[in-house]
Amino acid sequence: MNPFSYARAADVGAAVRELAGGGAAKLIAGGTNLIDLMQENVERPTRLIDISRLPLGRIENTAAGGLRLGALATNAETAYNDKVVNRYPLLARAILAGASAQLRNVATNGGNLLQRTRCLYFYDIATPCNKREPGAGCAAIGGINRMHALLGASEYCIAVHPSDMCVALAALDAVVQVSGSNGERSIPFDEFHRLPGDTPQLDTNLRADEIITAIDLPAEGFADHYAYLKVRDRKSYAFALVSVAAALRFDGDTIAEARLALGGVAHKPWRDRSAEAALHGKAASVENFHRAADAVLRDAKAYGGNDFKIVLARRAIVRALSHAARMGSRA
Ligand SMILES: Cc1cc2nc3c(=O)[nH]c(=O)nc-3n(C[C@H](O)[C@H](O)[C@H](O)COP(=O)(O)OP(=O)(O)OC[C@H]3O[C@@H](n4cnc5c(N)ncnc54)[C@H](O)[C@@H]3O)c2cc1C
Ligand code: SF4
Repeated sequence: MNPFSYARAADVGAAVRELAGGGAAKLIAGGTNLIDLMQENVERPTRLIDISRLPLGRIENTAAGGLRLGALATNAETAYNDKVVNRYPLLARAILAGASAQLRNVATNGGNLLQRTRCLYFYDIATPCNKREPGAGCAAIGGINRMHALLGASEYCIAVHPSDMCVALAALDAVVQVSGSNGERSIPFDEFHRLPGDTPQLDTNLRADEIITAIDLPAEGFADHYAYLKVRDRKSYAFALVSVAAALRFDGDTIAEARLALGGVAHKPWRDRSAEAALHGKAASVENFHRAADAVLRDAKAYGGNDFKIVLARRAIVRALSHAARMGSRA
């Protein structure tokens, strides 16, 4: 039994003050990940700060022509919002590929970004895990690592970030808006999540006293040519073995801009800008898509149980790009 206090935050400032107060305070939004982790004794907050009633649930246009997604809008509200469906269908698809309808009705956008890895050793407190207990070791290296990383891992941790939504947000160059004791700041999506290095206990660059207030999408939503492909063990209610968010913009018959983000392969949604740039000015051919896949995976390293994911990722990249290219007027 781990005792904890519970309080509802009156406003964002109050939530920040609670976090800045130190100790093991945790914000709770939908609770779909945090409560699981508390039940498994992985997270042991002494204070729970309920932010679910704060007015951070709006989805509205930004002055820059983009869209602001409130941190407390649910995943369902976001995926079915007209503006998201019409202008950012890649994001809607990615969200709907995750979890289940019941979970998406409760899970919030902010919570989705901060959900923790599904590495089974992370959840099993009887096993060594550097993410849960720095310095303890990593049971997944040499253990069951079918779901684990191919890119950007370290000798300390080979876990992957489990989110689908975040893969689309990475491809779309979203920006995370946060508020803390030192005021507000904007974090480009690429800089929000971290690679494990020798501090795998840190998933993100969010500071201990910061709350996510919104996620901003830029004006370009790639609504004409996009694909979200998620490969998983079951058709629903399963995390990605590999997922790919692909988005293309054409100038005539050639690719003017390409975006490619992978899920299920790294500690953060994986973008490779050099592989994207190599597609610019090229035809949308399977050969060029294979070259892009090879470039993304050139440093891929598997750990035995997940060897198959290198081939799977290559095929998924080619298929997602091909699907995006064939959409709409190019079908
Ligand atoms: C069975 C199951 C299957 C799932 N399958 C998938 C899947 O296939 N794909 C997928 O992407 N996800 C999946 N999920 C994960 C789900 O999407 C997340 O649990 C959910 O998005 C978390 O949101 P929440 O509001 O419930 O977060 P909570 O559980 O309330 O919080 C999660 C973390 O975020 C912090 N937090 C929450 N909001 C904020 C904020 N605004 N600012 C700062 N910190 C905050 C909390 O302190 C906590 O540390 C699954 C979950 C379950 C239980
Ligand atoms: S892969 Fe990371 S989360 Fe999994 S056991 Fe190793 S250190 Fe822990």
